[in-house]
Amino acid sequence: MRINKVPLLAFLVSSLTACSSFDQKNDPETLALCVDRNKYQAAAQEYYEVSNLDSEKLPVAWPEWVNDNYDRFCKAFDLTQYSIQNKGKSLSLGIFYDQNRPILYENPWPSEEEHMKDLEALLEFTFPSWDFKITFEGEESAEKMQAHDFAVYLNATVNLQTGHSIFLHHEAALAHEVAHEMGLKHHYDTLSDAQQGTNLAPGEINCLMDVTSYQLGSPDRFALDIPFDLDYGTEINMIRKKIASHY
Ligand SMILES: [Zn+2]
Repeated sequence: MRINKVPLLAFLVSSLTACSSFDQKNDPETLALCVDRNKYQAAAQEYYEVSNLDSEKLPVAWPEWVNDNYDRFCKAFDLTQYSIQNKGKSLSLGIFYDQNRPILYENPWPSEEEHMKDLEALLEFTFPSWDFKITFEGEESAEKMQAHDFAVYLNATVNLQTGHSIFLHHEAALAHEVAHEMGLKHHYDTLSDAQQGTNLAPGEINCLMDVTSYQLGSPDRFALDIPFDLDYGTEINMIRKKIASHY
């Protein structure tokens, strides 16, 4: 995979310390997670074969590694399968400003609608084949929150995903925190192992969930049913620059 090596930006560092814990329940309430290993293994084998149809893009050791790391990817896999069956891989996000304190942009978007379009583009290039509907909701209310799969609070003091809420210190960290909401975990288990390339799949050198890339690596893509070949590194860098230009 041609994942662009990217310099780590300071605002993402805060996600290293503040991201979600591993055992959070953020699934549709009735869904039993990580209970059907056979389905996961068969899907991993199929993903490997489909990805290698034209040429060997994933190493032969890939399926076994993915099976050995069932505990790390089963939640995202099961949530994705649920979405495929019930929601057509679409996610709805309601956007708020934390404590209703707007960000004082140097160069504001002409409207919140334009602002939301950029956030939507960031997510749809990061999670190709998924459809995101992002709505700016203004003043917070329980009714507005319940109208979406999850709520996002801009202008928070940390980057944090918890339950069905994402708090963002910097909105460019949105994709990483949404990946947690979709069930993905870090590749590392302890903070000292972050960005060290520990526990990456065979053939992998970096990943959004190792905080070393803005794109997802192959097992993360498998779990979220994202084709292995799609490379939107250029588009993601452009949209990130566009978002940053407003600060
Ligand atoms: Zn994280």
